[in-house]
Amino acid sequence: MSPIELNKRQEEILRIVKGNGPITGEQIAERLHLTRATLRPDLAILTMAGFLDARPRVGYFYSGKKPGHDVTDTMNNMKVKDFQSIPVVVRENVSVYDAISQMFLDDVGTLFVVDKNSLLTGVLSRKDLLRTSIGSQDLTAIPVHIIMTRMPNITYCFKADSLIQVANRLINQQIDALPVVEELSNGLKVVGRITKTNITRAFLSLSESHEL
Ligand code: ADP
Repeated sequence: MSPIELNKRQEEILRIVKGNGPITGEQIAERLHLTRATLRPDLAILTMAGFLDARPRVGYFYSGKKPGHDVTDTMNNMKVKDFQSIPVVVRENVSVYDAISQMFLDDVGTLFVVDKNSLLTGVLSRKDLLRTSIGSQDLTAIPVHIIMTRMPNITYCFKADSLIQVANRLINQQIDALPVVEELSNGLKVVGRITKTNITRAFLSLSESHEL
């Protein structure tokens, strides 16, 4: 069983919380001249590993406990909500040409397609768009709903799912990204994006460190 290892930033956070807790994530971020979003994975790891406790509306405080979790426990506790990215969505009637532009503009490899109520209807990958582009068709005349992978064949996840579950789905389905959704009465609202990059980042945040 390997003990959890912390990286420099996580140690810095521990030092701040030890000296100033209870302290909010926002305040920790200010002291480190970083954004709250940047710190989210580190705070999640420190909380899950038992170094910090978090109370809603109070903040983080040092638990003083010896970490009882090993790396496997910590990984199982890593949740989508702590590592997800902002989703990039397009409407169903957008042209393939515009979807390709959108992919470059937002620097993503997967677009999620939504209807007029912003509910998930499809997914577009790079190869979906490439496949269409190698025909001799006018890309400005083809709406993305013709070529997208559509519901109900979309693999998705929820904020509370573990990253391990997501990683399993990405590997088993041989896909690069999952939409993070919330279930509404009339469909699925897209609230985030989890890609192989997020998983790799989470993996790094566990490993780019030295033993405590
Ligand atoms: P690429 O095709 O660019 O390598 P992917 O491996 O992610 O990217 O996509 C492979 C196929 O799976 C594409 O046809 C794409 O529409 C589909 N796909 C991508 N993500 C999902 C998902 N979350 N659920 C269902 N199908 C998906």
